Amino acid sequence: MEGSSSLLDAEAVADLVLLDPLTEESLVQTLQERFRRRDIYTYIGNVVISVNPYQSLPIYTPEKVEEYRNCSFFAVKPHIYAIADDAYRSLRDRDRDQCILITGESGAGKTEASKLVMSYVAAVSSKGEEVNKVKEQLLQSNPVLEAFGNAKTVRNDNSSRFGKYMDIEFDFKGDPLGGVISNYLLEKSRIVRHVKGERNFHIFYQLLAGASPQLLQQLKLRQDCGHYGYLNHEGSSLPAMDDAANFHAMQDAMRIIGFSPAEVTELLQVTAVVLKLGNVQLSSSFQASGMEACSISEPQELREICELIGLDPGTLERALCSRTVKARDETVLTTLTVPQGYYGRDALAKNIYSRLFDWLGERINASIQVKSDKQRKVMGVLDIYGFEIFQDNGFEQFIINYCNEKLQQIFILMTLKEEQEEYVREGIQWTPVEFFDNSIICNLIENNTTGILAMLDEECLRPGVVNEDTFLTKLNQLLATHKHYESKETQNARRVTDASLPLRCFRIHHYAGKVTYNVTGFIEKNNDLLFRDLSQAMWAARHALLRSLFPEGDPQKASLKLPPTAGFQFKSSVAMLMRNLYSKNPNYIRCIKPNDTKSAMVFTPELVLAQVRYLGLLENVRVRRAGYAFRQLYGPFLQRYKMLNAQTWPRWDRGDREGTEVLLAGLEFPAEELAFGHTKIFIRSPRTLFDLERRRQE
Ligand code: ATP
Ligand code: MG
Repeated sequence: MEGSSSLLDAEAVADLVLLDPLTEESLVQTLQERFRRRDIYTYIGNVVISVNPYQSLPIYTPEKVEEYRNCSFFAVKPHIYAIADDAYRSLRDRDRDQCILITGESGAGKTEASKLVMSYVAAVSSKGEEVNKVKEQLLQSNPVLEAFGNAKTVRNDNSSRFGKYMDIEFDFKGDPLGGVISNYLLEKSRIVRHVKGERNFHIFYQLLAGASPQLLQQLKLRQDCGHYGYLNHEGSSLPAMDDAANFHAMQDAMRIIGFSPAEVTELLQVTAVVLKLGNVQLSSSFQASGMEACSISEPQELREICELIGLDPGTLERALCSRTVKARDETVLTTLTVPQGYYGRDALAKNIYSRLFDWLGERINASIQVKSDKQRKVMGVLDIYGFEIFQDNGFEQFIINYCNEKLQQIFILMTLKEEQEEYVREGIQWTPVEFFDNSIICNLIENNTTGILAMLDEECLRPGVVNEDTFLTKLNQLLATHKHYESKETQNARRVTDASLPLRCFRIHHYAGKVTYNVTGFIEKNNDLLFRDLSQAMWAARHALLRSLFPEGDPQKASLKLPPTAGFQFKSSVAMLMRNLYSKNPNYIRCIKPNDTKSAMVFTPELVLAQVRYLGLLENVRVRRAGYAFRQLYGPFLQRYKMLNAQTWPRWDRGDREGTEVLLAGLEFPAEELAFGHTKIFIRSPRTLFDLERRRQE
């Protein structure tokens, strides 16, 4: 880290590695003071902390891009452009693949940060016609994925309801060639349900607000949101959001990426089908046997859906209202109850939509993928949900927090590795660092036999009565003595009284804090099964896109084994992501939300403190300065402090290293405070540095 005086502003250090004393309070205070001055960016070494300003600041202009382009990282104010520039230059000039990991809670500014990084790289790479086309395609993937994957939530009007990792690939000159996008865990439950004050995915509102009357007619849709059961009846349009304009922007983006008009139509037809499924009403009728069964109460919507997808309405009706059950050699058609029917209908809508979203990702990849086999360099950008602790935490939070636990693990490993490598390069003795190793928590969740996910899978596959209670009992037996696991039962065994941990819950002590998970829904969400009759009905449709989304509906493949569980799939994709990240040089952007009201200039210390904990920032600073907090090349260091010693002032004619040695020898710092590397001076504690700075000012 090259020092500059702005780093050493004692009230608001620009690099928290220099914070003295280092406490949670001083850390939050520093962020607050900087935020007050509209300095939303702060470093921890080469990690950038970004506090959401909730206002547009004049710091992303082309002039700013020029300022940060080829700057020395520490010579200018902390900025997201500095980290983007540093990463881009190491990639281009030093051939090191990079990844940029952006984390933080909902509304903290992750997606905005990822777009700033992308646009910076687009601005500083070259401008040929071919290259510009590639850049445009990469940038335009954002509005398309956001239309289908983002929604208004109480926390964020444009909340990403999926995790995203994008590899941008460059040629040897540093020009973008293309990219690959991976999406993680779309929140598909939103399709059928969302809480008051929130909305379904943007696309539905965009479509209804922006489509021409002809298009609406073609899709058999009505313009008003209120007509559709899956859409919120109140507050369906957002004051700050122009759904119609966004619809047109999204369509333009699809064209630029290379979707054909026919593909767009197919995509919108399937979207319309999801919306219309929510309006299919079921009612109960009595059968000859006296049993109550469900039937379609008003067939108009069902008929229209079938016209859109080229399917016989009878087939869909049968699949929605009954179920084929195989008993020994017989197949029997059993009728469903009304609640079962609705359950199946909603499962179908969620499945169609989430598969459509996967298809969308693949389709974009098909366009932006690099077609040549030229040598490539890669910059990965990860925009993924941060640690979540809500009032009620379920399967989704469990999965998300597992992912964050893994990211924390890789963060510690990579930061230590990087530090160690620098010490080796500089020929300095490495002293082992004490840090909290969270492998034990990762293991608790992901271990192949005794991990919580493995036990959940086992329960899901077990024949007989399976429910969450048997799952919880099993966890309690196997994890009774695990230090990071707790439940009512293990507490009772340990004679702990704790009213905050209810029945049907287990609690994990994550690195970021304790989270209580309610097991309700774990089995169902992990299984993620669709009645086979429904997938077979979808496969029977003539609509090519829809049909392709349900390959398991092919009766020829009906005997295939069960698809992998949601937990298993997520674990595999997280493992792949970690391998991918680990092979690259990491850069971190940690986003913080300063208040809960989306207001500019409001900073709520308690809220920020909680995030500082979830992000593990204190640990981050500790690891960063475990050995030496500060390091600088001999030349600039000597230049800055030579006046502190008569032997080096006003001029020193011999080497910089020797000069630095002579200079510091005269200042009588304890020997363990300093280390002399091949090219840099290392200073152990910030106090010594501040001391130097104070003497200089005197
Ligand atoms: P989620 O996890 O819900 O997707 P997020 O971390 O991706 O949240 P963003 O959507 O990036 O959050 O940011 C939320 C809002 O905050 C933005 O829509 C924008 O209004 C504001 N915002 C974020 N970053 C900035 C910034 N650098 N400058 C100005 N406003 C910003
Ligand atoms: Mg986002």
